[in-house]
Amino acid sequence: MLILNTDDYPHLCRHAENTYPQECCGVLLGHITREGKQVREIRETPNDWQPEAQRNQRFRISPLLLLQLQKEARDRHLEIIGIYHSHPDYSAVASETDRSLAWPQYSYFILSVEKGQVKDCLSWQLDDSGQFQAETIVWR
Ligand SMILES: [Zn+2]
Repeated sequence: MLILNTDDYPHLCRHAENTYPQECCGVLLGHITREGKQVREIRETPNDWQPEAQRNQRFRISPLLLLQLQKEARDRHLEIIGIYHSHPDYSAVASETDRSLAWPQYSYFILSVEKGQVKDCLSWQLDDSGQFQAETIVWR
């Protein structure tokens, strides 16, 4: 279960819509609690995918930036609990590329953006056999 603040929703939508028709991406910082993954902070990151022309269907967060965010999070007693990105003119279902690049401990939150407007969002997590399973999203 992924627990987000209701305030995070407009923030994530704004990022996804402003980045359209490219994919936006970013990091979810928070805590793992008995209840689930509690998001405390949304950190936008640049889409670093090369070539830029493919950023409408690919994203990449620079490994160096990810490392910096990990360290910064640890210093503040938080951790990276997930990655978010958008799917311009595509459903919020995780792609095979998403699955092949996913890390087991993270949630993968995806916003579907149709014609510049967020239509849907889903969160995904790898199961023990390496397949994505949809994860319950709770806004509070
Ligand atoms: Zn994707």
